[in-house]
Amino acid sequence: MDALAREPAFSPVVSVSSVFKYTLLNIIPVLKYSQEMSKFWNQRTQRLQPYVPGEQPQDQRYIKLNTNENPTPPSTGVLKAMHEAVDDGLNLYPDPDCRQLKRSIADYYALPVENVFVGNGSDEVLAHIFAGLFDHNKSLICPDISYSFYPVYARLYDISLKQIPLGAGFELDLGVYPVDNGGVIFANPNAPTSLAIGRDDIQAFLERNTDSVVVVDEAYVDFGAQSCASLVGAYPNLLVVQTVSKSRSLAGLRVGFALGNPELIEGLERIKNSFNSYPLDKVALAGAKAAFEDTQGFETARQEVIRVRNQASTRLRKLGFEVLDSSANFIFARPHFLSAEAVYLGLKQAGVLVRYFNAPRISEYLRITVGTEREMAMLVEKLIQLKQDG
Ligand code: PMP
Repeated sequence: MDALAREPAFSPVVSVSSVFKYTLLNIIPVLKYSQEMSKFWNQRTQRLQPYVPGEQPQDQRYIKLNTNENPTPPSTGVLKAMHEAVDDGLNLYPDPDCRQLKRSIADYYALPVENVFVGNGSDEVLAHIFAGLFDHNKSLICPDISYSFYPVYARLYDISLKQIPLGAGFELDLGVYPVDNGGVIFANPNAPTSLAIGRDDIQAFLERNTDSVVVVDEAYVDFGAQSCASLVGAYPNLLVVQTVSKSRSLAGLRVGFALGNPELIEGLERIKNSFNSYPLDKVALAGAKAAFEDTQGFETARQEVIRVRNQASTRLRKLGFEVLDSSANFIFARPHFLSAEAVYLGLKQAGVLVRYFNAPRISEYLRITVGTEREMAMLVEKLIQLKQDG
């Protein structure tokens, strides 16, 4: 009824076929985009399979445990820096070189500023790496289960992708990765599995793989894994990618960065300056800079996520879930009392959003973001209810 009410008023008679077409085109938008190609799209656009982000309901009715945001809001110091940036004059363009933000990040990691690249979210940084640093004439290597944007960027930039299966327990073994490749990318900790490997394993791989760019996506590293930031001086083909979206509570700001050898950084600058001179606005620059200087706020929020994650993992195991040992701000868990899809749907109906992937090998698992202690208690309460109703 709602859909019909929104039909344009010029048609006095609504035919059955127009209702059917309207329903098809609006209730099933996936069909609209995946099957109907516009004659105005070029071949590249027709070939794309765009990334589908987790649900972002704008009515705020859900307990949102589906997109790995931090439940702690940015500190007052960070908010103050952003307010000051607004007052400082948005009529002028921001610094296209983002020098002050790069300096704060460089200082934090005790690296020269020439080792830092910044972008509009780490997604944009990753896109530039795919466009400009991976060898498009060879296969790029990544795990079969990992961040689902990697295959999307590979397709966008016409890069063939060789996905190497994770082990039976989802473990990543870089020892089996061939070194004849056009680049290597993996997340550590991995998403959605939440498992991390040690820096020593990555270093051993870098000793072998010297001729292509190796990207370690450390979006979740602050929640319990070892960063490879300290290795960038030693390995000229290593790029470490991070974000302020997770451990620094600024997913809404859109700031990500890469740490690497100046040659790699210069390559990324060339791509960026051939695409957008000002990807980071003044507010984002100020907020991210302040977040890197607010070490106390960062540490408190990060430790709280780790504490609540460990507590929630224990509770889920008691409920009969298989829970992987998470080093991230999310839990990857398999329910035994119902299918993962049924639990996802049941939770959604009860007002709790988690992430369900209908994909090979992981369709019986749920990825659950670590929320506040209260939100996790409500999740457990709803799960107990589902189990009883099961
Ligand atoms: N890498 C991984 C592994 C992620 O899960 C995400 C978040 N979806 C990103 C990168 C991108 O994060 P952002 O663009 O918010 O920096």
